[in-house]
Amino acid sequence: MKSSLKFKDLGSDFFAHVDTQKLENTSLIHINESLMQDLSLKSNDNELLGICSGEKPLAEESPISTVYAGHQFGYFVPQLGDGRSCLIGEIDGLELSLKGAGTSPFSRGADGRAVLRSSIREYLCSIAMQGLNIPTTRALAIVNSSTQVYREHVESAAIVTRVAESHIRFGHFEYFASQDQNENVKKIADFVIKHHMTELEQGDYLGLFKRAIELTAIMIARWQAQGFSHGVMNTDNMSILGLTIDYGPFSFMETYDPAFICNHSDTQGRYSFERQPSVALWNLQRLAGALKSLIQEEQLKDALSSYEKILVKEYSYLMRSKFGLILQDDGDNALINNFLELLYNNKKDYHRSMRELSNQKKNLLGDDFKSWFKDYKKRINKEQDLNQSLVLMKQFNPKYILRNYLAEVAIRKAEDLGDYEEIDVLFRLLERPFDSHNGYDSYDSEPPDWANNLELSCSS
Ligand code: AMP
Ligand code: MG
Repeated sequence: MKSSLKFKDLGSDFFAHVDTQKLENTSLIHINESLMQDLSLKSNDNELLGICSGEKPLAEESPISTVYAGHQFGYFVPQLGDGRSCLIGEIDGLELSLKGAGTSPFSRGADGRAVLRSSIREYLCSIAMQGLNIPTTRALAIVNSSTQVYREHVESAAIVTRVAESHIRFGHFEYFASQDQNENVKKIADFVIKHHMTELEQGDYLGLFKRAIELTAIMIARWQAQGFSHGVMNTDNMSILGLTIDYGPFSFMETYDPAFICNHSDTQGRYSFERQPSVALWNLQRLAGALKSLIQEEQLKDALSSYEKILVKEYSYLMRSKFGLILQDDGDNALINNFLELLYNNKKDYHRSMRELSNQKKNLLGDDFKSWFKDYKKRINKEQDLNQSLVLMKQFNPKYILRNYLAEVAIRKAEDLGDYEEIDVLFRLLERPFDSHNGYDSYDSEPPDWANNLELSCSS
């Protein structure tokens, strides 16, 4: 069942061995039971705490931190790397990575830690994304501790155990390409093909690039359809397998606004919600640049031209499903866009409005929507089976979203009271966000007034 960590086969140019650094008074505050099962992990809580706090090695494996580069807010940084995370082993083809277990040679003077607040956010968002069918790294457990770390104020240090088929980023390719280490670019490309794109023939680098484009386009389409904003779409935060990775100041858009910026430090709005599709393309262009020694320029360009088509196709399928539209009709795009415009003009909550649509009541969203509803009724009545449309809508419009205020309540209870119950409540709702959960109706509410000024910014 347990195999050795394949990433090590790449050799010492790709990583450094690290020792995890102990946290004081650690405890497991939540465990993802279904992921435990997927990994066939039968460890008792004590063993699991040992593994997830970095104190007990997984299958005798020694931890490593990997090196990568990346374009951060448009500027190339020649060396980044896992500054606070390390791979501790692999189970059934899935890598386990600890985030916050101490410094590495890539910490660049920072403390190698993650605070409880951001660990809870990452943990909950990982399950929320999975529940929404958006490709993502997963999270196995959160470990809290009494070790203090210094951010804007003193906070407790925690560790999230991340799990993914691979944690390789665009930035891994950029690192070696920028140093003219073309042999190593080839090596990591061969590695990705051999282990993660097994449908490709060895040496099919163009195939690798096309696959990365496709996976990225699908991930972004799903972000856009479900109102997810990542906040820090630097190329070091872009997974070669199109997984959402590195949760920081992310946020689900609540009041519908295409120009929504979730990251308080992103003063220019480089990573605003509506820019995500074009930023991902820009990032893929940087990846293309890093693959120049393996693929001809014309072929790279040609491959990039497929990005928009794939994205639009997936996005349109998702949006049509959210509106219950199965048949094709010429006016469909206009109908959808008119609704979004009404949401924007009336400052409506995106998720609640979409979910309410499936109730089909004329006056649900107020007078401003009356004439739109008339058109919509006409259109939806053309469908062969209205019930089928309504079922579809409930499968694509979540009832539960990881709203910032919900996460904040769970964080405050954890920080102030050592009460982790709310994390569990949210975890279970978000794991199945399309179902109605008895007794948890209020969890689909819009933010209360106190939550108006919650601010999120970069790494914490
Ligand atoms: P991010 O954009 O949050 O993914 O982080 C950018 C880079 O900073 C990555 O290379 C991280 O490993 C590194 N980093 C962020 N926070 C810390 C920290 N507290 N200690 C060490 N490295 C960090
Ligand atoms: Mg990162």
